[in-house]
Amino acid sequence: MYDYLVVGAGLFGAVFAREAVNKGKKVLVIDKREHIAGNVYTKEIEGINVHEYGAHIFHTNNKEVWDYVNKFAEFNRFTNSPVANYKGELFSLPFNMYTFNKMWGVVTPDEAKAKIEEQKSQAGITEPKNLEEQAISLVGTDIYEKLIKGYTEKQWGRPCTELPAFIIKRLPVRYTFDNNYFNALYQGIPMGGYTGMVANMLDGIEVRTGTDYFENKKELDVQAKKIIYTGPIDAYYDFKLGTLEYRSVRFETEVLDTPNYQGNAAVNFTDRETPYTRIIEHKFFEFGEQPKTVISREYSSEWKPGDEPYYPVNDEKNGALYEEYKKLADAEDDVIFGGRLGEYKYYDMDKVIESALACAGKELSN
Ligand code: FAD
Ligand code: UDP
Repeated sequence: MYDYLVVGAGLFGAVFAREAVNKGKKVLVIDKREHIAGNVYTKEIEGINVHEYGAHIFHTNNKEVWDYVNKFAEFNRFTNSPVANYKGELFSLPFNMYTFNKMWGVVTPDEAKAKIEEQKSQAGITEPKNLEEQAISLVGTDIYEKLIKGYTEKQWGRPCTELPAFIIKRLPVRYTFDNNYFNALYQGIPMGGYTGMVANMLDGIEVRTGTDYFENKKELDVQAKKIIYTGPIDAYYDFKLGTLEYRSVRFETEVLDTPNYQGNAAVNFTDRETPYTRIIEHKFFEFGEQPKTVISREYSSEWKPGDEPYYPVNDEKNGALYEEYKKLADAEDDVIFGGRLGEYKYYDMDKVIESALACAGKELSN
C-alpha cells in the first residue's frame, strides 16, 4: 500500500514525491510518457542536451526555490539574450539601448526616450486598448512594426489589435545596455540537462513510466491512500463538462553537420513571412563545443483535442469552464490536483516548484 500515488513525473510530481519520501511516506510515481521530467525533459543527441518540449530557461526571484533546485543540479551561468532577426537585420532583445542604437542610431538614453515619445505622440495613443497600442506606447512604431507585430501575430494566430495589452507588458524595456531577457535575480541551466535534475529528485523513489493512469485506474487506486494528480483536470473527469483549450507549438528538430549554426541559443524571426517564430540552437544553453549542432524550429499552432497541451488559453470561456471543474476537484477528499495541467495555469518552473513545495508542506504536516 502506498501513501501517495503521484500521477505525472514532471516538476510538480517529482518535487511532491521527494518531499513525501523525505517525510517517510511510501510513494509511487507514474507517467504515461516513456520518460520522466514532463515538459522539462531533455534528451541527449550528438552529446547535446536537447529541450524536447521547448526551450526551458530557469529563472527566479525566490531564493528558497533557487536553493532547492541547486540541491539536485549544478546550474551554469547561462543568461537568456535572444537575438531578433527581421529580414536579415539583427537586433538585441529585450528592448534596450543596443536595440535603440541599431534601430535609430541614437546613443544616449535621453535620445532613445525622445524618439519613442515622438513616435508615440504621432500615433496619438493615450490609453492603450490592445496589444498594438500598448506596444507602440512602450517602444514606438518602428520597433512595433519590425520586432513585435509579425512575431506576435504568428505566435497567437490573430491580429495585434485583437490581443490583450498585458501579453507584451512582461517584456522588459530598458534604457541601459543590458541584453538579459529576464529581470530575475537567479538564472541558469542545470548542467547535464533537466532530466538529470529530475532523476536526482526522484532518486530512490519507485517510478513507472509508460503507465497511463486512466488505463490502470482501478488497480492503481486501490494501492494508494491518496492521489496527487498532475495531468489535465478535464481528462480526470472524462471531459464531462467540456474540453479546456490550449495553444500548441510544433518543433522541427534537425542535426546539422556544423559546430555553430546561428551563434546564439535563441533567434526570433520577427517578420510575418518566415513561418516559424524562432530557432533554438540547444548546445548554447550549456556553452557546448561539440562538432555538430542540433536546432529546433518552433511553429505556433492551433490545438485540437489529442494534441500535446502547451499553453492554457486564459480567456473568459476557458476560465469559466476551469472554475466548474475546480468545484468538482475541491470536493474530492483523496485527490489533490497540481501543476500546470491540474490547475490549468501558465506556471513557470519556479512557480510550479513553489506550488508543489507549498502543497507538500500543507499535506505532509497533517
Ligand atoms: P508537466 O511537466 O506537463 O508534467 C505533467 C506530467 O503528467 C507529464 O509528464 C504527463 O505525461 C503526465 N500525465 C498527464 N496525464 C497523465 C496520465 N493520464 N497518466 C500518467 N501521466 C500523465 N518555464 C520556465 O520557468 N522557463 C522557461 O523557459 C519555460 N519555457 C517553456 C516553454 C514552453 C514551450 C512551455 C509549454 C512551457 C515552458 N515553461 C517554462 C513552463 C514549464 O514547462 C512548466 O512550468 C513545467 O514543466 C510544469 O511542470 P508540471 O509538473 O506542472 O507539468
Ligand atoms: N514578443 C515579440 N517579439 C519578440 C519576442 C516577444 O513581439 O521577439 C512578444 C510576443 O507578443 C510574446 C510576448 O512578447 O507573446 C511575450 O514574450 P515571451 O518571450 O515572454 O513569450 P513566451 O514565449 O514566454 O510566451
